[in-house]
Amino acid sequence: MIAQGRLLLDPARAPEPGWVRVDQSRIAEVRLGEPPPSERPPALGGPDALIITAFVDAHCHFPQTDSVGIDGLELLPWLEKAVFPAESWWGRGGARASALTAARRHLRQGTVGVAAYLTSHAEGSREALVGVASQTPLRFIAGRVGMDRHAPEDLLAEDRSRARLTPPAPCVLAPLANGEDPRRVVSANPRFAVSCSEELLAEFGWWVREHPGTWVQTHLSESRAECDLVRRLFPGAPHYTGVYDRAGLLTERTLLAHAIHLSDEELALIAQRRSIIVHCPAANTFLQAGLFDLDRARAAGVRVALGSDIAAGADAAMPRVARAMIEVAKVRSMTRRPTDPPVHVPTPAEAWDMITRVNADLLGWNDTARLEAGASADFLVLSVPPTWLDEHAAGRLIYNWDADLVRSYVYAGQVWKP
Ligand SMILES: [Zn+2]
Repeated sequence: MIAQGRLLLDPARAPEPGWVRVDQSRIAEVRLGEPPPSERPPALGGPDALIITAFVDAHCHFPQTDSVGIDGLELLPWLEKAVFPAESWWGRGGARASALTAARRHLRQGTVGVAAYLTSHAEGSREALVGVASQTPLRFIAGRVGMDRHAPEDLLAEDRSRARLTPPAPCVLAPLANGEDPRRVVSANPRFAVSCSEELLAEFGWWVREHPGTWVQTHLSESRAECDLVRRLFPGAPHYTGVYDRAGLLTERTLLAHAIHLSDEELALIAQRRSIIVHCPAANTFLQAGLFDLDRARAAGVRVALGSDIAAGADAAMPRVARAMIEVAKVRSMTRRPTDPPVHVPTPAEAWDMITRVNADLLGWNDTARLEAGASADFLVLSVPPTWLDEHAAGRLIYNWDADLVRSYVYAGQVWKP
């Protein structure tokens, strides 16, 4: 199968006329110029189409798809009033259908891979992942949420009773398939320190030590009220980041969402452990949690990915999350005091890199989110105004993104219909 169009190979430059040959699930060739005569008309696209790689989202919650827009609350009351009721519903049989809806929403916005949270229900979470893996092309790193306090009883019951079993049931779901499938990975997701006792965090840490290479996902230092509560709940810990470190949860496969209010010491520790901070700009603004300082994290040597954080973030579309990241940096730049260091506002090309190659590489998927021979064939064929096909193409897409621009989706070499 051949797809023809302007190829956005470098987001800092104008897309160039060319074509992509797909062989089974992979990109076999990427060439500039006209497709060979035997391939005209091409199966997909045409001279006026724009071909871009698919996106990767480093933080989202499958059960929260229908919880977007419950405004006016700070993190902790928002969890109580908006999120926990939605998650409870998974335990009553809604998991598979809800996860499929979430997966299709991400795919429709051009996202081929996500790092995701499920709920604390083991059976529902497993059904959800089996459904997404068997019925959609979405890649994921996803896990059952661990929590044993500060939430409604039906969300805590499994972790409390599991620990009482002999031997205790595992805190992490079993892998979906025999052997490693790097496209469908089950992770360890202790929700955050507020809803996990020291014992539960230690149990997750034990699991990670026993199963090296396990991905860990959790939340860190999102709101000030949360940070205060964590200080009260863990009086012996040096700081919030230290709560996770003591449990053995900071590894180079740990995704720490938000991480807004951190001391220099905490950033240095995260850098030393090579853990990854997931910046969630849209969510941070929605819950008024704070303005993440990307420059400071990078200067400390921390690797940073970008996440939608559905449902605190309103948008599954990664170009709009990229836009939110740029806007947060602009707000920080405009509101900084004269004595503060200058703020680097990411260019659209840098933001585009974040939602494609950078996110993919940080999640261990260096075979997707790039138009290259040998990569997984995960790309979108768009129909855009001809005036967009200039050196501002990435910025135009970030600021004008709409799933209606997509004429064809190719995921793992197959045309996907929304
Ligand atoms: Zn989250």
